[in-house]
Amino acid sequence: MHINKSKDLFAKAQHFIPGGVNSPVRAFRAVGGEPIFIKKADGAFIYDEDDNAYIELINSWGPMILGHNHPLIREAVIKAMEHGTSFGAPTSREVEIAELITHMVPSIEKVRMVNSGTEATMSAIRLARGYTGRDKFIKFEGHYHGHGDSFLIAAGSGVATMGYPDSPGVTKGTAKDTLLAPHNNIEAVKELVENNKGEIAAIILEPVAGNMGCVLPREGFLKALRELCDQEGIVLIFDEVMSGFRLAKGGAQEHFGVTPDLTTLGKIIGGGMPVGAYGGKKEIMDFVSPAGPVYQAGTLSGNPIAMAAGLAMLTHLNETPSVYSDLNRIGNKLVGGFQQSLKKLGLNYTINHLGSMYTLFFTYNEVYDFDSAKNSDTVLFGKYFQAMLQKGIYLAPSQYESLFLSTALSDKDIEKIIEANEASLIEVFTD
Ligand code: PMP
Repeated sequence: MHINKSKDLFAKAQHFIPGGVNSPVRAFRAVGGEPIFIKKADGAFIYDEDDNAYIELINSWGPMILGHNHPLIREAVIKAMEHGTSFGAPTSREVEIAELITHMVPSIEKVRMVNSGTEATMSAIRLARGYTGRDKFIKFEGHYHGHGDSFLIAAGSGVATMGYPDSPGVTKGTAKDTLLAPHNNIEAVKELVENNKGEIAAIILEPVAGNMGCVLPREGFLKALRELCDQEGIVLIFDEVMSGFRLAKGGAQEHFGVTPDLTTLGKIIGGGMPVGAYGGKKEIMDFVSPAGPVYQAGTLSGNPIAMAAGLAMLTHLNETPSVYSDLNRIGNKLVGGFQQSLKKLGLNYTINHLGSMYTLFFTYNEVYDFDSAKNSDTVLFGKYFQAMLQKGIYLAPSQYESLFLSTALSDKDIEKIIEANEASLIEVFTD
């Protein structure tokens, strides 16, 4: 496989862009080698600048639930473009999409559009602080909530991958208000709450973590957090930037039957355009400016092109329940195939999986929090990643990311992925 054009582009990019990329994990540092530059994507495939085709298992880090370049979204964007690209004023589409989101995710009674997941979580924390009059919040080790200062503390995703989960540049003053608990450890959370009685504004978490690899909540964990928040007047925030509209129409909260006070959403609601949102109980959301005193704004928020894409995406998801049965079937078939291969090869590696999210961890131990995720052999992962890439399968370039399947994957694609996985594991172990 030649990647000459990608190599040339990366060499040039490094002169003008820090590290040659606009988001760190894309640089492939955790897996060795150099990044491939993407020219286009369609359905289950992406194509690099050298015209190599790859089956997609990241799907733009989650949003392309229906695969790339879906005609419904493409046509909605083209149509919207005929009327201009930004107004900085209210539009009918914003009302329509807000109504649709509140219908699909019943815990969201009011919603505010922003431009990224990072903006959504930063705003939700500010709102929880403004609403409760408290400063501190609890996050979980290995969870990633975007690059807002107060979240870059023991964070997952790229920050874990790059090995500096506490970023320089975050002041001690900011960091002291972020309290940390191990994922799935309700006792540790209770202890933090007890030791900071009446000072905690919010508990924020990924209900299904995707940023330390895919890690599921243990039975009863989410419910116990809900009860604790109710007892202590703490705002419970589910960061569903990855799980929203993916694990179910109403996200992880629908799947697990636990209702947060606020929800943060991201990329999926833009159908791939730069969008995020936060929403929840009316009583809390009415603290947001101009209804209330908590300030938050955005020139491009509710952008007409992004709203057109999002509306096309969400309307389809809302009206087509088979999307979710398809995603589950595809996930089960793929992970079932992986498990058979592992058994055949006598490898006991852990696969965490729910619906269309999964991670193959290079450890024999159960992975239930950030420490257990870190048992993974990331050097082996790097070799496996490269072996899969050579076979035309595009994975997230880090062990600490969930993969995301799309409905565009055919049975033939899934079989190809299963075969490539088995061949790659054999290659890695006979290396
Ligand atoms: N929250 C979660 C759970 C995420 O996975 C991400 C990004 N992957 C974010 C927040 C930040 O979103 P963005 O990259 O759009 O700022």
